[in-house]
Amino acid sequence: MKLRDHLRAARQRLREVANPDSTPDLEAELLLAHALDVSRSFLYTHPEQEIPYPRAEAFQALVQRRIRGEPLAYLIGEREFWSLSLQVNPDVLIPRPETELLVEAALERLPQNRSLRVADIGTGSGAIALALARERPHAAVLGTDISPAAVETARGNARRLAIGNATFSLGAWCAPLEGAWDLVVSNPPYVAEDDPHLQRGDLRFEPRGALTPGPDALAAFRAIGAEALERLAPNGWLLFEHGDMQGEDVRDLLASTGYSEVTTRPDLAGRDRVTLGRRPA
Ligand code: GLN
Repeated sequence: MKLRDHLRAARQRLREVANPDSTPDLEAELLLAHALDVSRSFLYTHPEQEIPYPRAEAFQALVQRRIRGEPLAYLIGEREFWSLSLQVNPDVLIPRPETELLVEAALERLPQNRSLRVADIGTGSGAIALALARERPHAAVLGTDISPAAVETARGNARRLAIGNATFSLGAWCAPLEGAWDLVVSNPPYVAEDDPHLQRGDLRFEPRGALTPGPDALAAFRAIGAEALERLAPNGWLLFEHGDMQGEDVRDLLASTGYSEVTTRPDLAGRDRVTLGRRPA
């Protein structure tokens, strides 16, 4: 069978699965390019190419796994975030486009050409830490994670992307942070453990500990908020991503923990998404 026919058949099969956030045509191409170890443009320039049996079989297996719900990013082992190509696997949350808002809000508080110390708590694939480190080459960025596999994944991404000013440490929340920090950022687990959202789509395959802190959806904000206050330099910033219904709770929590200038930044759709506060001077 020719490349073109494999692609057509896969598009058809992927279209038949009613998965609201899937993009069957694009996914068929990305899976085939991955199985053949070629670029997507190769598919357009070589439609007549015969696909050898082992490759065709590997492609079919990937399509089958996608139909059963496995996230595309895990199947191809890669996801782009902040224009960085990151390797991902089931040990880490798949970086979300909306988390780029957290990166933007952090960058607004990180002047260029200063040797600032920045921490990303619960870094996973290292997405946030690596984006900040790439944009602020004079800053030293530390990502922490309680999962050894996540720390390995993040270190691998830093190495591949040659981002030398991001390092990663194993430990719970802020425990690995020594000395004073100018900015602490986190996209912690914030979905309540009984939220039906966890049974849907990609989330079913992602690490539980990266999505939910347990029955109390605010537990991670509470812990990180208290730990970060002791480690921030005077006037240092803490920034959280949170769920769109959690803005008020997170503001209250930060204010009662002792942060000042507590505000929420809505996303492009006007939903609460990022809340920040400052350690008083
Ligand atoms: N935004 C993610 C989702 O619900 C959750 C990420 C997180 O818990 N930090 O899809």
